[in-house]
Amino acid sequence: IKESGKAQYDEKGIPLTFIGVSFDITETKQLQQQKDDFIGIASHELKTPVTSIKAYAQVLERILLKKGDVMEAGLMKKMDLQLNRLTNLIGDLLDVTKVNSGKLQYNLTHFDFNEMVRSEVEELQRATEKHQIIENLEEVGLVYADRERISQVVTNLLTNAIKYSPNSEKIVVHTMIENDNVVLCVEDFGIGIAETNLNKVFEQFYRVSGSMQHTFPGLGLGLYISSEIIKREGGKIWVSSKEGEGSKFWFSIPIQRPIA
Ligand code: ADP
Repeated sequence: IKESGKAQYDEKGIPLTFIGVSFDITETKQLQQQKDDFIGIASHELKTPVTSIKAYAQVLERILLKKGDVMEAGLMKKMDLQLNRLTNLIGDLLDVTKVNSGKLQYNLTHFDFNEMVRSEVEELQRATEKHQIIENLEEVGLVYADRERISQVVTNLLTNAIKYSPNSEKIVVHTMIENDNVVLCVEDFGIGIAETNLNKVFEQFYRVSGSMQHTFPGLGLGLYISSEIIKREGGKIWVSSKEGEGSKFWFSIPIQRPIA
């Protein structure tokens, strides 16, 4: 039950009347729960066949290469890359149901932050021919956090930087220490974000609408999941951007932190 109301008082401050409204939101909550359950079950069911199709595609690519069918092997490689996109979308749907039900697992360890950044950059650089990801990394040392989840955020920011800069090649990833935090920034010189939309990009299912938006595929979940991960790590995530010039996505996490 959600309630809101207002009391009226006499000149001595004694309440005279109270007007209030109460809404029964049980049904809304149930619908929300059903929606989350459905997304969870559907994405789980989609994951298994996609994983095996991917394995078959990789085997076929190797067979075709061995036979010298380079063109066909190239097509298989393209199929594999598209399956990666599908796997990532399904992963986001699974994560969002976990985030919303508080079931996202965290596994805290000490790890070399820059080493993690370098390995994510290397992996994405391999998948993109057009963009060049430049590293501008200050020595930041070890952090105590969930390596997998933090690299998921880094990948998310880098993937967005690539996706939303179709006409520029350069992407820069910066790391630095500020106070007792490790700070990372992914800078692109792409389409940018209008000021009115800046604070909305971390919302669930939010996508900036515009004439070009349909050309960039996505569900509007990556930044929402990233911000939930960073919040759980005791950190902050933010963006600065100029439409038509590019964006800078930042996050900071404490180097040492008490276990949540
Ligand atoms: P998706 O990319 O799947 O739509 P995200 O949650 O990652 O979802 O991003 C939300 C929205 O924020 C995107 O739809 C896009 O409009 C905007 N956005 C995110 N990153 C960038 C970027 N680097 N440059 C411009 N716009 C961005």
